[in-house]
Amino acid sequence: MGALKKYIRLVDTQQLDNRITFTFLTDLDCFCADSFYVDYADKMLDAPESIKNIVFAAVMAPVCWATGARLELPCLDSVYIKALEGCKQYFYDLKLRNWSFQEEIVTRPVENKGDPQVCGLLFSGGVDALTSYIKHRDERLDLFTIIGLDVPLDQVAHIKRCEDRIRAFADGRGLSCYFIYTNIHDCFLFERLRKFSTIWYSEVSHSMLLTGLTAPISFPRLNKLYIASTHSINHKNLPMWGSNHILDNRICWAGAHVIYDNGDLSRLQKIEKYLKGFPEIYKYVRVCWAQSQEYNCKKCEKCMRTVIQLLMSNIDPAACNFPIDKNTLPQLKKKLISYIGYHKFFSGSEDVLNTYWISSQSMVEIDKLEDIYGSREFFQWFKETKVLKRKFNPLLLSFLGWGFCVKSALLKILNK
Ligand SMILES: [Zn+2]
Repeated sequence: MGALKKYIRLVDTQQLDNRITFTFLTDLDCFCADSFYVDYADKMLDAPESIKNIVFAAVMAPVCWATGARLELPCLDSVYIKALEGCKQYFYDLKLRNWSFQEEIVTRPVENKGDPQVCGLLFSGGVDALTSYIKHRDERLDLFTIIGLDVPLDQVAHIKRCEDRIRAFADGRGLSCYFIYTNIHDCFLFERLRKFSTIWYSEVSHSMLLTGLTAPISFPRLNKLYIASTHSINHKNLPMWGSNHILDNRICWAGAHVIYDNGDLSRLQKIEKYLKGFPEIYKYVRVCWAQSQEYNCKKCEKCMRTVIQLLMSNIDPAACNFPIDKNTLPQLKKKLISYIGYHKFFSGSEDVLNTYWISSQSMVEIDKLEDIYGSREFFQWFKETKVLKRKFNPLLLSFLGWGFCVKSALLKILNK
């Protein structure tokens, strides 16, 4: 053991039925609980401890890289230990402010023999995941859906709605689907990690956590695990994002390796190349994380971005669970023109604005557009408009951020 004071120590990996509970000790101040669980529902779980512990290492290793804490686990898959070195190097190369990289991992390496037979796909029903399914539909694919990260566990009705739709998708295609439930985010005080990353889950933890969660249930038969790309590798000045072709392709464990899929395509290109030719799967599209009442809200930035991209490919958004009407596009235009509406809509994210919206402007081909809900008129304006380049006002952003915090706190109180 080294002389590092800070530590995260896994003290118990307990399995009851198909739920694993990890209990740990730490002297870091970014946790508010000392255990979390991962539940594999009705699927039989029979993995060795060193494979189950991949979940714990996937969650905690980045925290240790940032804080410099020592990570202690009784045992861990030897291939995954090596993979962690590669992942750490990825973050190290980013030259991140405040990150220590002085940690060490103390564990007993265990060699596990995989028996890779199937491929897996992390599956949410979003455009990226659906297009990855289409691309790999001739391979033997298992679907893995993680619940408790983007959709909170207490949103029972919404979870059921999403599960039913994914189950119908899998059943209709003879695929196995695995639902994985976790309360891992309840352990964290994410505001204590802000000095390392503004949005820890999205910017750091994303692919390591999602892929790690599949290890206990997919061992030993998993070969390739596809994680659909969020960003195209061709985009310039990509925002920091915890899932990309460099990081994700370094993740592997006994017999299994992760593949950042379709990274050469933008979201618009994925729709054109894959989704457009498969109208039978339009009804499964779900992209919205802004709320838990409807399948897609049809108002938030991500919903409207998807609507725009579908229209650019001449796909009726209504067929993809965005029942818009003739008022939708004029309302969006109004929002973008209005000063407050614009800032609210983009929530101050210049990355989203640049990566998706401004880059889409140049790709509009008016002559090829069918007129769906007034889309031709809207895109005539959209293609030429300069309002998207409007600068964000830091004062207004902090006011909106404050308003958002107050709103979230009030909703939490009212829901109790
Ligand atoms: Zn939405």
